Amino acid sequence: MEKQTLSFQAEVKQILHLVTHSLYSNKEIFLRELVSNASDACDKLRFEALDRPELFEDAPNLEVRVWYDDQAKTITIRDNGIGMSAEEAVQHLGTIAKSGTREFMAALEGEKKKDANLIGQFGVGFYSGFIVADRITVESRRAGLDAGHGVRWSSEGTGDFEVETIDRPARGTDVILHLREGEEEWLSAWKLKSIIGKYSDHISLPILMPKQQWDEERKEQVTTDEWEPVNKAAALWTRSKSDVTDAQYQEFYKQISYDSEPPLAYTHNRVEGRTEYTQLLYVPAKAPFDLWNRDKRGGVKLYVKRVFIMDDAEALMPVYLRFVKGVIDSADLPLNVSRELLQESRDVKAIREGCTKRVLSMLEDVAENQKDKYAEFWTQFGAVLKEGIGEDHANQERLAKLLRFASTHADSGVSLADYVGRMKEGQEAIYVITADTLAAAKGSPQLEVFRKKGIEVLLLVDRVDEWMLSHLYEFDGKPLQSVAKGGVDLGKLQDEEEKKQAEQTAEAFKPVLERLKISLADRAKDVRTTTRLVDSPACIVVDEHDMSSHLARLLKQAGQDAPKGKPILEVNPAHALLKRLEASEQFDDLAQILFDQALLAEGGQLEDPAAYVQRVNKLLAA
Ligand code: ADP
Ligand code: MG
Repeated sequence: MEKQTLSFQAEVKQILHLVTHSLYSNKEIFLRELVSNASDACDKLRFEALDRPELFEDAPNLEVRVWYDDQAKTITIRDNGIGMSAEEAVQHLGTIAKSGTREFMAALEGEKKKDANLIGQFGVGFYSGFIVADRITVESRRAGLDAGHGVRWSSEGTGDFEVETIDRPARGTDVILHLREGEEEWLSAWKLKSIIGKYSDHISLPILMPKQQWDEERKEQVTTDEWEPVNKAAALWTRSKSDVTDAQYQEFYKQISYDSEPPLAYTHNRVEGRTEYTQLLYVPAKAPFDLWNRDKRGGVKLYVKRVFIMDDAEALMPVYLRFVKGVIDSADLPLNVSRELLQESRDVKAIREGCTKRVLSMLEDVAENQKDKYAEFWTQFGAVLKEGIGEDHANQERLAKLLRFASTHADSGVSLADYVGRMKEGQEAIYVITADTLAAAKGSPQLEVFRKKGIEVLLLVDRVDEWMLSHLYEFDGKPLQSVAKGGVDLGKLQDEEEKKQAEQTAEAFKPVLERLKISLADRAKDVRTTTRLVDSPACIVVDEHDMSSHLARLLKQAGQDAPKGKPILEVNPAHALLKRLEASEQFDDLAQILFDQALLAEGGQLEDPAAYVQRVNKLLAA
């Protein structure tokens, strides 16, 4: 390939502009990113070579070398990993926009002291080289291609880059940073070494730097021709727990998650028995930007006997724990295991079950001992954890204990156990109501009698709640019951006197009910009196086994067919409006308004808002 000048993809240009103009804190992470790319490239080679051992050529020992030249003002990061073909260099380093690009820019927006640390999180780590360099040259040859098919890629990190074919006998990649004016501080063996120690100690291949030696005559450290490893090169999870410090666990987390915050909790174990594996699992403190994407693969890397097999091995974690990050290293799986094979493997099933239990224990521990932290976790990940109620029946009970809700007693943090502990004498069910927002839930007329009697009701306002409820029937032997479904039977909570009175009122109201049923025949499948209302004239409920109107609305919003069942209108015969009804000359209009208002009060939409407004105006003008 002749030398060509190509233009960066538009979003890449924006990233580069940001990187070169506004990342001032944590500049040193450029080295972490480039070493991590070098290490990834070695992992990829090792993996491809499982089927094609010839890719190792005559250099089977994978390694990374880092050195600097203070005359040329360059730093070089070299690996003998998979390398890149010319096409790959063009694509991966310039023309394919990464999925996280836009999110990265959004995350930096508005931040005053822009933190370079964020960069790796969004899969644009290579460009961090431009924080300190005003030219980056990459020379590479892909494993398996011959020496004539090397590539040189070079750019000043502005609008475009150059590529050309070169001769390059060595397999793998050199990344050469030409430092900007004023960035000479990085030309220091001590400095580079300490950054590698800080961020890359756990990388499982040797990172080599030229050995420094004290020169007696010159009275200074001089660089020798000998190379020495500057990291421990033992994969962190293979070390024994007692040899790893908390700080090292935290740093490892940052490296694999690109999260700038420390994790909420982690667990590290060697599991023995029928299936043997090591697990190092982290629960993040903050949700990633793409948490809601259920198709996103999990965050657990799979190794087999310390050989990297794949990122994001989703079969190792249930979908509802997709936020968990970490490493599983199996002693039993074959090295050539594929994603398809993983789905079927019994060992993988055992690993998934073991890891799920571990994560739940971690969460239980935080919930028990660090309530504030758990509350924060819950706001970030609670709605995702709820998916587990329906998906993981084996652990449903444990998951149910981890749930937190808003209720009529507290705006957040109510567990089912708290609720049960506060149940009134004689109360048999756990009462819940679902709605789109907390305000709508709190304003539901269906809550009135519960409020009056001081009975707590859980307010469920996550989209997934309806679905969750269809899987969670009871907790601690108490059924979960929607206050917007079926008749209210407060059972022993209502005394005989109240019941009798209600029956009498209902009896007396019968003639009006009959007329209401006729007026509303098209809209309500029944009209009946209720004791659940105190201040409101009417509310809408559905039969015990019908779909709640909230769920029907959600389905409709999602463009799905909801069954067209008619709801039940319940009226409060003690309300002034109902008392006026009987003698009213506008009985029919009032009946329609009653129904429309009940619909509005629970967050529903009127099919004919104009007709509603006309009726109300007619009454107001009368
Ligand atoms: P990420 O590492 O998250 O994919 P980067 O911006 O760090 O994003 O790197 C972009 C891509 O460039 C990598 O995915 C890889 O394909 C390629 N690349 C970068 N450095 C190397 C290297 N040393 N050897 C081989 N490929 C590399
Ligand atoms: Mg990278």
